[in-house]
Amino acid sequence: MDSDVKIVLKSGKDISLIRRHPWIFSGAIKKIYGDPVEGELVHVYNNKDEFLAQGHFQPGSIAVRIISFQHQELNGNFWREKFKSAWQLRKELGLIGSSSTNVYRLFHAEGDNIPGLIIDYYNGHVVLQIHSVGIYHNLPHILQALRELYGDRLMTVYSKSKSTLPAVGNIIPKDEFLLGNTENTLVSENNLKFRIEWKEGQKTGFFIDQRENRTLLQKYSANRDVLNMFSYTGGFTMYSLAGKAKNVHSVDSSARAIELTNENVSLNFKNAPHEAYNEDAFRFMDKIKDKYDLIVLDPPAFAKHQSSLYNALQGYKRLNQIVLEQIRPGGILFTFSCSQVVSKENFRKSVFAAAVNAKRNVRILHQLTQPGDHPVNIFHPEGEYLKGLVLYVE
Ligand code: SAH
Repeated sequence: MDSDVKIVLKSGKDISLIRRHPWIFSGAIKKIYGDPVEGELVHVYNNKDEFLAQGHFQPGSIAVRIISFQHQELNGNFWREKFKSAWQLRKELGLIGSSSTNVYRLFHAEGDNIPGLIIDYYNGHVVLQIHSVGIYHNLPHILQALRELYGDRLMTVYSKSKSTLPAVGNIIPKDEFLLGNTENTLVSENNLKFRIEWKEGQKTGFFIDQRENRTLLQKYSANRDVLNMFSYTGGFTMYSLAGKAKNVHSVDSSARAIELTNENVSLNFKNAPHEAYNEDAFRFMDKIKDKYDLIVLDPPAFAKHQSSLYNALQGYKRLNQIVLEQIRPGGILFTFSCSQVVSKENFRKSVFAAAVNAKRNVRILHQLTQPGDHPVNIFHPEGEYLKGLVLYVE
């Protein structure tokens, strides 16, 4: 589909596109030739009438999300190449064809040069999350590319886009099967088994982005009393048990998450030293003084928008302070933020303030982030959303 709409940027406002940032803010636009509807493909030019890029139009602060910096047709072939390149990267990372891991992120939006598209792979089942109308219109190309990549191994395609796709025109955002009807499966991550429920679960069903950080936790687990706070289905729990923890407690406010944590523990271990609690984190933390010497804090995003940044930083400070005050001397804390608007520096400052208030000696052992199947486009630093610190607390 070629575009009938031409968008011309104000003088000097092409700099971010020249630097390959994939968003155009509405304030950068000088003139729109045509009357684009949301999701329509538009061509972007600088003030000297030189072509810069093409992308999907959206009314609002981000007016265009760039899909290509070339004057090319965005046809089936374009999508096939994008998917091949995403697949190739996961292969380089050792995730495709691995005998120990069959769950990974295949497509990570801007990180794979296509804003608005997330795809997770669960052992033959694929879950999509579509964030823009432009991507929604390309679903037939996306499905075709998936079929070509996986062939007969592709059993399910589930679109989990109800909460992410805007309702525009006759589009009714919904969660739906585009292929098959399986609702859950068993996957292996580093030979640990997990039941994944994409239909009922949170996000696409699993927090794949913590895989490498879980592996690191395993190394610190031997003989420790572990608290996995905000455990979801027990990702960190399985690794700490595999690492021979003395005792592991998992806490989550979701009853289903706790049921799945217990199921996952029994899938992997016999008589594991583990207890799961369906409780609010802040209530649970009232009674943890000197009980644990390895704690994981992986709360949900505290800030979804810039406007809630201050409150989010206060939230991280409070949470970390409560834990830093109570962890045993010589304890290790894995603490995370998955809020995109909270920078690495701001997160670290919150934890710093927490350490000051807790009056503990705290050293940073590791600085963590997301793994390679959640790549950060260097031109889109906002894509670095997961940050973590491993702290040694005396
Ligand atoms: N660490 C997990 C992912 C955590 S996602 C993993 O590796 O899979 C955040 C979790 O926090 C969700 O499971 C959510 O149910 C839980 N949660 C949100 N608010 C909570 C609260 N106030 N108390 C306890 N758990 C909470």
